[in-house]
Amino acid sequence: MEIFDLREFDAHELVVFGHDAATGLKSIVAIHSTALGPAAGGCRMWPYPSTHDAVRDVLRLSRGMSYKNAMAGLPLGGGKSVIIGDSGKAKTPALFEAFGRFVDSLGGRYITAQDVGTSTADMANVARATRYVAGLGAAPGQAGGDPGPKTALGVYLGIRAAVKFRLGRSDLKDVSVAVQGAGGVGYHLCAYLAAEGAKLYVADVRAAAVSRVCEQFGAAAVAVDELLGLEVDVLAPCALGALLNSQTIARLRARIVAGAANNQLAEDQDGVALQAAGILYAPDYVINAGGIISVSREYHGGATEAQVIADIHAIPGRLTEIFERARRGNGSTNAVADQMARERLGRQVHQRVA
Ligand code: NAD
Repeated sequence: MEIFDLREFDAHELVVFGHDAATGLKSIVAIHSTALGPAAGGCRMWPYPSTHDAVRDVLRLSRGMSYKNAMAGLPLGGGKSVIIGDSGKAKTPALFEAFGRFVDSLGGRYITAQDVGTSTADMANVARATRYVAGLGAAPGQAGGDPGPKTALGVYLGIRAAVKFRLGRSDLKDVSVAVQGAGGVGYHLCAYLAAEGAKLYVADVRAAAVSRVCEQFGAAAVAVDELLGLEVDVLAPCALGALLNSQTIARLRARIVAGAANNQLAEDQDGVALQAAGILYAPDYVINAGGIISVSREYHGGATEAQVIADIHAIPGRLTEIFERARRGNGSTNAVADQMARERLGRQVHQRVA
């Protein structure tokens, strides 16, 4: 595999493979940029079909973290890690402790936290071997803990900003929102939206996740393959990446796309296609920064939860600036955000890839 030639490589500073025979750990840490601080980004556990797939994913996610942290104004660079394995079967405390030793060996150039397939409990095991970890349990009122609810708050505030910009509405009463994925972020997002009287439509591959939000928040259940085609005000992707591509965009009948999922656009061009279709797209790494804002405050220490919440309230202003720049003819919203992030990183970074 020619790693240096992959489009996703994009001048990464460091890519390291970690293996531990005793626990079966196979992990990769990718550090895209430490220009703004130590590289921070979560650890994804996923049963990648090949090492090649894992490498591409970690590089793509790592670069996304550079952009996300830069746009959130955090003193952090961008990095990410993956553990190759099935999180439903292969998790053990020893595996995460071994991962912690791997992270520790990088001497603080990379700070980890939970991501898809890993949890606060897993990070507690990582913390037995390294201090370069966040997303741990927090004392009441202190910054820290599960980033999911914080991400949901930022997405909720971002949806409000998008609705104001695109629909001229100052509240979400009767605004229809289709939420794809009712997991750690989607569930809390539904809670915020329901509290403001939004009409919710929810799809998830896990039936139990759907019934929970139907029962608790009066959401309507929708089949997974029908959600994208619903005529709604907002589509909120909170499941997997790359769901916005040439096929799906042709089916969309939402006026806004604003959700938590990372890397929602399969290609940069898909942002242009959304704009051409009159759909306002909230760049994913700007709207979903609530979790990393919490992780940053927790890692640097001494902050309260109220400070985290205040920082998250800056997300809608950033989005509105991006929307306005795009409207003034500076390109699609994703292109405007990428340009702003590149400027903050102080280097030429190539276009994002799916
Ligand atoms: P999660 O794993 O808790 O939830 C994802 C949900 O999506 C699950 O309930 C899963 O069953 C469902 N799902 C999977 N495929 C689906 C499909 N095809 N259609 C409908 N539902 C499907 O993950 P999460 O922590 O809620 O994160 C959601 C997304 O947001 C991910 O893309 C993640 O990378 C991104 N994100 C999360 C955070 C965070 O703080 N947790 C921060 C930034 C970005």
